[in-house]
This record gives sequence, C-alpha cells and structure tokens, in this order.
Amino acid sequence: MTFADIGLSDELLRALDESGYKDPTPVQAAAIPPVLMNRDLIAIAQTGTGKTASFVLPMIDILAQGRARAMMPRSLILEPTRELAAQVAENFEKYGKYHKLSMALLIGGVQMGDQVKALEKGVDVLIATPGRLKDLFERGKILLSGCSILVIDEADRMLDMGFIPDIEEICAKLPPTRQTLLFSATMPGPIKKLADRFLSNPKQVEV
Ligand code: AMP
Repeated sequence: MTFADIGLSDELLRALDESGYKDPTPVQAAAIPPVLMNRDLIAIAQTGTGKTASFVLPMIDILAQGRARAMMPRSLILEPTRELAAQVAENFEKYGKYHKLSMALLIGGVQMGDQVKALEKGVDVLIATPGRLKDLFERGKILLSGCSILVIDEADRMLDMGFIPDIEEICAKLPPTRQTLLFSATMPGPIKKLADRFLSNPKQVEV
C-alpha cells in the first residue's frame, strides 16, 4: 500500500515525497483511512512506529476546509510533555507545508502573552500540555466549543503523570459530536475507562 492508495491529498503526497517517506508504516496504513472517514480511533502503538504522522496527516486534510475563529481552536492535541508537544508541532510544519493551517503550541515554561495572541488570531491546530491548557481556559482565553477533533496522545504516560482528571475535565468542555483519537503504548484499566467514556464506536488498531 502506498500513501496515494490511502486517499491523502496531492499536497500531502508532495510533502511526504520531499520528506523521503515512500510507504506508510503499519500504524499509518491501518489508522489513516478510518480517521479520514471521521471515525474515532484507539491506536495501541509505541513511539517509533510512525504514530505521529498517523494522526497529523489525516488531520491536515480534514482541516484544510474551513477557517479558524478567534479563541476557538478547530482541533486539539494533548501531549504529556513540552518536548513531545514540540515534536508534534514540527510534524505539522513538515507535512503541512503546502497547506495554510495555523497552529499554536501551549506549553509551560513559555510566556503566556504570545500564546494568547496566537489564540486571538484563531488557530486550526492547538497542541498543548494539559496544565497550560487548563490554566488558559480558566483565565477565559480559550473556548473549546469549536473543537471538532481531539487527540489524546501517549495516554499511558498521561496516566503515569497524573493528568487523567485534567483530561476528563478538558474532554467534557469539547462538543460531544467531535472526533476523538486516542494513542497509547499500553491499555491499562484507567485508559480503557477513559476511552469508554469519551470515544464513540472507535476503530481499534494495534501494531
Ligand atoms: P513516531 O513514532 O511518530 O515518533 O515516528 C518515528 C520516526 O519515524 C520519526 O522520525 C518519523 O519521522 C519517521 N517516520 C514517520 N513515518 C514514516 C514513514 N512512512 N516512513 C519512514 N519513516 C517514517
């Protein structure tokens, strides 16, 4: 199977070609088609399998239509650490070079002023760690009611770091009709429970 067989746009195929990636990895081949069809997804995959591109690529094509409004991000990716959040942002820049999507990174240890300015301009893709996101939400700087795609990445690490209550709180603020994608290397009980509560008829992929 090639990236073209999966149904990605010509712009993405060009960016992938320039990245030197010829064929999808197994998690990409299994996850991208259902995500493009707006299904919820549970992917049990380790880092190093190409899992990041398996949500970044279809999200770019889904978000290509439509425009962002001030303070209302159109999609949200939750990451447990600043480093992982920054890596996902790099992926969006690399694969999204032929799209005009706006992105903001909300991580701790960075001045809030610039993050608030970016939110006010409107963002298509918001990549955040739970703590900073909650902080800005509580200050009234962000509305999550326009968020149609949610990614919970590295869910088992979120659990180890004590972020599950924050994630539950954030999930409850998103519209119930959203598309939710959950990635985890393992599926401990609390993550299964989270998925049961916040995902709807998810496609399950294990690599
Ligand atoms: P990840 O599991 O998302 O952390 O990705 C692991 C590494 O695989 C990263 O360095 C990616 O740039 C690389 N990668 C992602 N997709 C592909 C692909 N289809 N072919 C070759 N390498 C890839």
